[in-house]
This record gives sequence, C-alpha cells and structure tokens, in this order.
Amino acid sequence: IGLKKINIIDAKDYVDQEVEIGAWLTDKRSSGKISFLQLRDGTAFFQGVAVKSQLGDDLYELIRHLRQETSMIITGVIHEDTRSHFGFEIEVSGLKVVGESEDYPITPKEHGIDFLLDHRHLWLRSTKPHAMMVIRNEIIRATYVFFNKEGYIKIDAPILTGSAPEGTTELFKTKYFDKEAYLSQSGQLYEEAGALAFDKVFSFGPTFRAEKSKTRRHLIEFWMIEPEMAFMHQEESLEVQERYVAFLVQSVLDNCEYELSLLGRDPEILKKYTKLPYPKISYDKAIEMLQESGDFPEIQWGADFGSPEETYLAEQFDQPVFILNYPKAIKPFYMKPHPTRDDVYICADLLAPEGYGEIIGGSEREDDFDKLEAAIKAAGLDPEAYDWYLDLRRYGSVPHSGFGLGLERAITWITGESHIREAIPFPRLLNRLNP
Ligand code: ATP
Ligand code: MG
Ligand code: MG
Ligand code: MG
Repeated sequence: IGLKKINIIDAKDYVDQEVEIGAWLTDKRSSGKISFLQLRDGTAFFQGVAVKSQLGDDLYELIRHLRQETSMIITGVIHEDTRSHFGFEIEVSGLKVVGESEDYPITPKEHGIDFLLDHRHLWLRSTKPHAMMVIRNEIIRATYVFFNKEGYIKIDAPILTGSAPEGTTELFKTKYFDKEAYLSQSGQLYEEAGALAFDKVFSFGPTFRAEKSKTRRHLIEFWMIEPEMAFMHQEESLEVQERYVAFLVQSVLDNCEYELSLLGRDPEILKKYTKLPYPKISYDKAIEMLQESGDFPEIQWGADFGSPEETYLAEQFDQPVFILNYPKAIKPFYMKPHPTRDDVYICADLLAPEGYGEIIGGSEREDDFDKLEAAIKAAGLDPEAYDWYLDLRRYGSVPHSGFGLGLERAITWITGESHIREAIPFPRLLNRLNP
C-alpha cells in the first residue's frame, strides 16, 4: 500500500526505492534458496531476485513454481545491475499472481520463422519484436516532429479509392456498394491536392500492393510517409529528404540505445548515416557503374533496377545514395520530364546502404495541364478518372515536388534486420493473412 507503481523503463529514477510493477515471467532459474526471475513489463526486460530467507517458505514455494507468462504484481527494491543489457534489477519483497498461464508455446529456445509468424500475437512479447516495435514507434514519432518542425500539416489520404496512380497489376479490388473500389497504393495524388491547398503537407497511412513475388523488402500492406510541397523544385525536395532520413537515424540513436543493444545493432554504423549531404549520381552513371562492375553483363540503359543492382550501387557508398533522373519508361506518368532531355524524368530514388534497396521514391510533378493530360492518355489511363487531378493544373498550378518513404523499409534498414516482415506488428505476406 502506498507504493509507487512504475514501469521498469523508469528504473533509474527509483534506485534503492521500493516500487510496484505489473509484469510477466519470461524465464526463471531456481535453487532451494534463491530464484532468478526473468521478467518483462512491456517497457523492458529485467531480472527479479527472490530470496527464500527474506520471503518465507510459502511465498518462495509459489515463486519457485511460477510458469512462463504468468502475470503478476511485483513489489521490490530497484538496484543497479551492470551485468544485464538493461542495467537494473528488482529485489523481490512481495509478489501477487494476477493471471495463470497455460503451457506457453514460445519458449526461450529456438523456433522456425513460420511457427513464430503463426504465433505473432504472442511473439510480440519477445525481446526482438519488442525492440523492433519500440524503434518503429520512435521513427513514427520523429516523423511527426520533423514535419511539424518544418511547417508541414498532415493531410490524410483516403484508403478506398476510385482510381489508381501506379497501373493495375498490383491493385486490390473490392466491392464498394454497386461500384468497384481499390485499396490505395499511394496517397500521392491526394497529397498534391493538399499541397496546393496548404503549401506543405504529408500523409502517413497504410498502402496496399498485391506484390506477387516473395522478397525480403516487400510487404502486401505497408505504411508510407508521403510529403508534397508546393513552390518546390526537386533539388530542394532532395534536401528535405536527406534531412528527414538523417533526422530519423539521429532520433533512433538518441532515444533507442537500449533497443539497438537488444538487436545487436552497432550505433557506430548508424552515425555515418547522419552526415549530410548524401551522395547523388545520375541513372546514366549508375548504369555505367553496373556495366563496369562485370557483375551485370546483360544490363542496358533503360533497365529498371532490382535488388541486386540496388545493392551493388549502394555498396559503392557508405551513406544512402540518390539515383537521379530515371528513364521515363520505368516511372509513372505524373513525373515532370527533364528540361533538356526528353528520355528521363526529374526524379530520384534514395537507396539505403547495406543492401536494403530503395527507401524513397520521389520526383518533381508535371505541373502543365496539356502535358499532364497527354501523359495520362499515353499511359493508357482514362482522363475522366483523373479529371479532379487535372483540376490541380487548371486552377493556379505551381511547380511542386514530393516523395514517398516506406516506413518498414526504413525500420528494417535502421535496425539492420534481414527481413521486412519483422518491421510491422502483423505482417501481410503473399501466403499470410493471419493472425
Ligand atoms: P520497389 O522498387 O522496391 O518495388 P517501388 O518503386 O515499387 O519499390 P514506390 O511506388 O516508389 O515503390 O513507393 C515508395 C516507397 O514505398 C518505396 O521507396 C519503398 O520504400 C516503399 N515500398 C514500395 N513497395 C513496398 C512494399 N511492397 N513493401 C514495403 N515497402 C514498399
Ligand atoms: Mg515495386
Ligand atoms: Mg522502385
Ligand atoms: Mg519507387
């Protein structure tokens, strides 16, 4: 009674004080006299030490027979513990079971990925998913901080749409009363409307692509941050992009030291990614580099890059690298053509180091009515479906630019994980819709 109820993540403020913590048991080691409880309270993983001579026979016997995932209220005194990742432990003075646990399927031993994904709702309790989700939260938080600081407002794009910007092969179609609707692949067209109404905007929401290939970089449902800026050319947009990415990395370095240590991610590697500016090369130059490498004998100007090409290019730099001005044929219709070349757009992809591939795609947008209408027709799209989008060029068009960053791509790269499925709480994959 009268004890402070805390989360263990705040332990440093309570050293040598007696506190109360709601926790779950993840593992334990017991002898006749002392038990070491591995505990989790949702904010960190820590040890509880229970000594028989202090607790008495009855309570000690109860503690000795606790099963994994039993939930409990623990009282005890916080001590520093320099041997653990976390740095603090609790000396147990009292313990009350809240919920018993059946045999827990995820034991501290190794499990295969399919088993873990089948139990994702429980797997989230383990250390690695914990660290991943806390870092995901930090990147989301930092995104809001960054764009608010730079004067952007969040304009939410709809998820159900009547038309689709990126072609139709990766579209999810659904019934919309007596019509058809599509799940959004990108909020970009709506953000353009937002930019002409509010100058600088961003969206942050789920996007959906029926990606038929199994890769380490593609989810079916993923979250995108899509800023769009009026009166802004591509050069300035690139500066926003690199400032934003460096800010994300710096925020994780500043606020997620414990989580990075749980993942074994070396902060020294990440520090390199906070240095600006990032290198920039043209698509033409990228093709030359790929040809000269000897590893891509087939590659010709005009080819789109897959994972091996992007990985090779990124390996030539030790920071994220922008690839500028891709051929028109491999990019969407709304981009603005280069002023002196009619075969490329004013666009760029940002490739992450360490083999993580494209994390941002962006461009300056076509702002001329006639040219945009012609581009829509040339892409084989129905101009009527894009009439509202063409309005943005009818009424006070301005140069504008924007980009899209894939949240889970950024998380996977910053955490150094090998597969994007671990960067989202409940991944949707080619063969996985549950849990
Ligand atoms: P990729 O070439 O890797 O398939 P993309 O060029 O099709 O990506 P864009 O349409 O440019 O992707 O989308 C903007 C960003 O969204 C990408 O830079 C990437 O970070 C992210 N993204 C795209 N597709 C996926 C996906 N299936 N899963 C997770 N993130 C994705
Ligand atoms: Mg793609
Ligand atoms: Mg791409
Ligand atoms: Mg792209």
